[in-house]
Amino acid sequence: MLKGDGHLSHDLDPLDQGPKDACGVFGVWAPGEDVSKLTYYGLYALQHRGQESAGIAVSEGTRILVYKDMGLVAQVFDESVLGTLRGHLAIGHCRYSTTGSSVWENAQPTLNSTEVGGLALAHNGNLINTGELAVRLAPGTTRATTDTEVLTALLAKDGSRPIEDAAAEVLPQVRGAYSLVFMNETTLFAARDPQGVRPLVLGRLERGWVVASETAALDIVGAVFTREIEPGELITIDERGVKSRRFAVAEPKGCLFEYVYLARPDTSIAGRGVQATRVEVGRQLAREHPVDADLVIPTPESGTPAAIGYAEQSGIPYGQGLVKNSYVGRTFIQPSQTIRQLGIRLKLNPLREIVQGKRLVVVDDSIVRGNTQRAIVKMLREAGATEVHVRISSPPVSWPCFYGIDFATRAELIAGSLTVDEICQSLGADSLGYISLDGLTRATTIPAGRLCRACFDGNYPIPIDQDQVGKYVLEAKV
Ligand code: SF4
Repeated sequence: MLKGDGHLSHDLDPLDQGPKDACGVFGVWAPGEDVSKLTYYGLYALQHRGQESAGIAVSEGTRILVYKDMGLVAQVFDESVLGTLRGHLAIGHCRYSTTGSSVWENAQPTLNSTEVGGLALAHNGNLINTGELAVRLAPGTTRATTDTEVLTALLAKDGSRPIEDAAAEVLPQVRGAYSLVFMNETTLFAARDPQGVRPLVLGRLERGWVVASETAALDIVGAVFTREIEPGELITIDERGVKSRRFAVAEPKGCLFEYVYLARPDTSIAGRGVQATRVEVGRQLAREHPVDADLVIPTPESGTPAAIGYAEQSGIPYGQGLVKNSYVGRTFIQPSQTIRQLGIRLKLNPLREIVQGKRLVVVDDSIVRGNTQRAIVKMLREAGATEVHVRISSPPVSWPCFYGIDFATRAELIAGSLTVDEICQSLGADSLGYISLDGLTRATTIPAGRLCRACFDGNYPIPIDQDQVGKYVLEAKV
């Protein structure tokens, strides 16, 4: 997996597929602005949320054009493509596939036609009753394999009525996580599931409006944060401004993992900067798992804020003991066997003169399978570290996520079957400490009852129906 800036620790080892973000979504309604370029830059800011495909849909009032392809935002679009995408409203999407395979057909935005025009849609999250929803469609309505295609087809099904009315009727029947941006030829829509699992924010431009997965994407296009789209809210944006409609009672359960790893550090959630939360998590980690050591180092970049907090709280100096190759992008060249064996060194290399002879605290954000952390411990010892103490700024990830983050099945999660002591042994570390779930929750300043914490405690706030998620649940139960 490739992660954007600030998200590099889990893609270090090709064998260690870390948490994969679901997607980033962006929408803009702004007559007189270059909406396709605004969307391009919005997606660019959200690249860390999905790197498999990218797409933009645009309309100038009479027809919707969609351009999408496999690859990073900067690989899919160039000046000439963006130059053909003209209009006054647009939506965009960058994708990591959590359902359906990673093929062009499943790239987003999706586009369906209705009796009165088109409907383009971009989705962040994962639906858990796709099978049930698909039954409501006429056979052959859609060939796509994703929950998003089924949702788009449902919204477009009765094309004679306004999309807003169709959405108000269809969305209450949809279960799972969804932050949506969608559009017809004239109007931009956005909606968030009643639990508000994935983020979605509204921002104001001088001459229009923007909707995005994270506040960082508003910043990059010069939009001013207005508010979060509420869980269970549908908004409509056109020349009459922003209209809000509630389609379900809000039962907020925001994803706790957004704070740990998914969101950019320069994003704010519920009014608090993610970076500040991560630093506080590091302080709490030091309070819960102190150790006598000479140097605190992060696994760059995702471990950095928590390492800073750990160093501040413990009084142990902070330093960079691992150097990241900032220019490692998605490579389509398969590494040779020799390079593959070096694995992690493609992306991280220890600073021998810094770590030699030191007792180190290495701070990382999470452990999924453990391959990356095992390789880091080994590499630091080989570079001369006398002790390696691993500290993790999230509790053990023991349960899979059904709401849009593809960690792994339970059988693949190292904490799904091993105790902390056993994991420590498996990593070859001198000690291992995970922050407690209460400690992490407190650092977010959000009450526990308003968070989804299922990957840590197994309590799924949106009940999982085995028939609907089929194979994945069965694997997860192994
Ligand atoms: S299970 Fe974990 S990753 Fe998934 S939504 Fe809940 S907290 Fe987030």
